[in-house]
Amino acid sequence: MDLKDHIRGIPDFPKPGILFYDISTLLREADAWQVAMGRMARAVRAYMPDLVAGMESRGFLVAAPLALKLGCGFIMIRKRGKLPGDTIGYNYALEYGEDRVEIQADAVQPGQRVVVVDDLLATGGTMAAGIALLRQVGAVVPAAATLIELAALNGRAKLDVPCEALVTYA
Ligand code: 5GP
Repeated sequence: MDLKDHIRGIPDFPKPGILFYDISTLLREADAWQVAMGRMARAVRAYMPDLVAGMESRGFLVAAPLALKLGCGFIMIRKRGKLPGDTIGYNYALEYGEDRVEIQADAVQPGQRVVVVDDLLATGGTMAAGIALLRQVGAVVPAAATLIELAALNGRAKLDVPCEALVTYA
């Protein structure tokens, strides 16, 4: 099955000139979604994660079922101010300004292996921030994984771990 048949490009979203890859059509097709998650589980299992971390918010949609398939736990990396209890944050630069991701301080035991997951890798800034944050709380990050990679933006170059991608657009 070609997963690209189930992903649509929507022009001019969220801004004019941006082609947005919409995964809603993949999520609502039970067979295609099963295939996607099966492929991702096969790719990620080799890294022997203890936990799978999802990047808010579409990363959660991928990471939570992946964790179930792999029989490991799921943890959330969220935008600022969303998580209850003690949190640890990591600030990172955007094209204009700065953003911050946070994790619960007790989400990871030191030395646990955590694979970080998102729906799409573009410039790599989001995934790189997730990796940096996980390391800050003592995780070992053996890999990243994404449904979609936009290869032209070379986000992979920002990551110092392998990145598994199911679908690549030039
Ligand atoms: P990056 O930080 O790699 O430049 O951007 C990746 C982040 O932006 C991901 O969290 C992803 O959800 C979101 N994103 C950027 N462009 C798209 C897109 O075309 N489709 C989807 N589904 N997400 C996108």
